[in-house]
This record gives sequence, structure tokens and C-alpha cells, in this order.
Amino acid sequence: MLDMPRRDFMAAAAAFAAVTTATLAGTKRAEAGDPSFMNNVPDPLLADKELPTFKFALEKSEGRVIGKSYGKEATVVQLPISKGIAGVSMRLEPGAMRELHWHATAAEWAFVIEGRVRTTVIDPQGNAETNDFGPGDVWYFPRGHGHMLECLGDKPTHFILIFDNGYFSEFGTFSISDWIGHTPKPLLAKNFGVPESAFDGFPKDEVYFARGAVPPEEQSIPLQGRKLPPQTHKFELLEQNPHALFKGGREWRVDSTRFPISKTITGVILDLDPGAMRELHWHPTADEWQYVIEGQVSVTMFGSHGRYRTETLDKGDVGYIPQGYGHSIENVGDTPCRVLIGFNTGVYETIDLSQWIAGNPLDVLATNFGKPAALFETFPHRDVFIADKDGPEKTGPQRP
Ligand code: MN
Ligand code: MN
Repeated sequence: MLDMPRRDFMAAAAAFAAVTTATLAGTKRAEAGDPSFMNNVPDPLLADKELPTFKFALEKSEGRVIGKSYGKEATVVQLPISKGIAGVSMRLEPGAMRELHWHATAAEWAFVIEGRVRTTVIDPQGNAETNDFGPGDVWYFPRGHGHMLECLGDKPTHFILIFDNGYFSEFGTFSISDWIGHTPKPLLAKNFGVPESAFDGFPKDEVYFARGAVPPEEQSIPLQGRKLPPQTHKFELLEQNPHALFKGGREWRVDSTRFPISKTITGVILDLDPGAMRELHWHPTADEWQYVIEGQVSVTMFGSHGRYRTETLDKGDVGYIPQGYGHSIENVGDTPCRVLIGFNTGVYETIDLSQWIAGNPLDVLATNFGKPAALFETFPHRDVFIADKDGPEKTGPQRP
């Protein structure tokens, strides 16, 4: 802008205004999906007197089933509030492969719950990596990078995928069989330098789950030989020590500071004992997507203007908290719970309510609430993060 003559600046400003007007006059969907409006214009879905539901029973949905493999989605179609993050629960039977594909509009992050998975992923520099994953492991594929996922071994595998875009699925996921099946054979023959007949009998439509032999235990070498990327796509999350360890619960966390390729997604595993809770807090820079792996939790959400909503999430349910909204997670079941949480940021940030209060002097708190200063002496003087069923620890580890 510094060197731009004023009339050019005015023309640019007018063009920008026209684009802005067009966007505002567009459909509700396009408007809400435009990140340039985030934090400026309220999302219409979040502008009513009541907060919308933020829960979806993912595992109770049918999804896409082929043989004994399935993919169940939670996108804006199933859970309209979840504009920033989508999720998929996927099960692959032995010999099944989620075929070669890419996501034009989202990066993919995954956590393996059960069984073993092998992936290959290509990057724009032509590097390819093959990795084998087991329970507790995580992968990350940057937006648009081509990949496949296959079940490894003779037992089925189950994993949860997280995408940094609630609109990732519809018209955003591209499969290789769909593309080749719709391209004329002469063009394919020229592209690959093989006879047209080489494409006889290829699938006409998207295969989605391909089924074949169980892959060899030892990783096979790609056609081009091995050409590895500078950064790995694999991180063994549950092999690490928990990030946060409290009486009542613990948390493992991975963002780009520990897993450099994961620039747009942070993942968390949160374990809570019965009655324990992840305290009231908010995330300044990210939406939060939750999936209950085990147990039952009560999730609260505060949305300003007196709006407050509580949802109970059971095993297999998904929850969603928009960026900046206050929330808490409490284990209300009789057994320990485990929640997988994804954030659409590569650098995790949180502000916890106890920490905020501890960051203020007594006179401010006394005036704010109209209560004696002495009362606030009894509040925690540090971050609580996880409170046990009997309340927070008064001593012990600080939040890392
Ligand atoms: Mn994918
Ligand atoms: Mn949170």
C-alpha cells in the first residue's frame, strides 16, 4: 500500500467493497465459511437467543459402509456448528484400503484407537513416506497432499480423522479412481505412455474402499525408489509422558512445537477419573472438536449474553466448541473417561478461568463481584487445569 498512488488505492478499496458486498449478499453458507469474516461478523448460527446444539452421535450414524469397513462423518451437514473442524470415524477390515485420494480444502490429522494402519503420502516435492501406525499414534497430512490408508495385519483397525475445515467432505475430497474413471482413455494413454487398452476394466466410479490382499508386513519400495520427505508425518502420542499430570486426570498434547509438520492441527488425549473435570476455559485461537473414546462426559458451553448450554456426550459422540467460547468437560460416568480433542491451530493456547482470577489482585476481584477481598484469598493462586472430584489440588505441578 505504501507506494500505491491514491487513485489506485481508491480503486482497490472500491473493488474490495464490491467483493465484501457480494459475499454478504451470498448464501448463508458461503458467508459463514469465509474466514475473512471470522471474529468480525457474528456467525448467523451463533447469533440467536439460544445456543445451537454442539453434539452429534457420530458412532450411531450409518455413514458409508462397504463390506465390514465404514467411514462416518461429522461435518457441517451433520453438526452445523462445526464449521472450523470436521471429523470421521473410520474402520477398515483386513485387506481394505481407503484408496489414494486428497483433500482439496483440508489437512488431515488422525489418532489410531485400535489395530494397525499403513499410510503412504506424497508431497509437492515428489517425496513419499510410508508409515505404520498402532494404537496411540498420530498422523498429519498437509492440505492437498495425496495419500492412502490401509489396514495392516489380520485384525480390523479403527481410527478417528480430524480435518481443519468443517466443509472438507462435500466436493472437497478427490479419489484417484473417480478421476481416472472419468478421463477419456486416449488422454490417459498419452499421459502415461501406455496403450489405451491398459485402462480396460478400470473402475468407472469412485472405489472409496478398495479391497485386496493383506499388505506385506515389510514395507514395499515405491516405483520411484525411496525418496523421503524432510519432515515425518508420524508422531507416537501415547508413547510420550503426559503433558499435564494431576490428581484426577492427565493430558497428552501434540502441536507443531513437538510435531513440526502439524502446522494447522493440535491433538489432545484427555483422561479424567470419575467426577474429575477439565476446568472452565477458552481457546483464543482455535475451535475445539471432541470425540469420546471411553466413558461419559458433561460438556458446558458459555456463549455470552446469558447463553449457556450443557450436553452429555457418551462414548462415540462428538462435541464442538467455537473459538473463544467458554467451556468445561466433566466426567459424569462411573468409569474413567478418555476424550480425543482436536484444535484447528498448530500452536495450542488456552486461558483457564482459575488462572485468570489468579492473575488479578484482590481489590479488583472484590469490586467485580461485590464481595469482601478476604473471600478471594481462598481461591486458587494458580492454574487449576484439572480438578479432582473433591476439587483442585492446592499444591503440585503447574500447567506446562
Ligand atoms: Mn484422507
Ligand atoms: Mn478446551
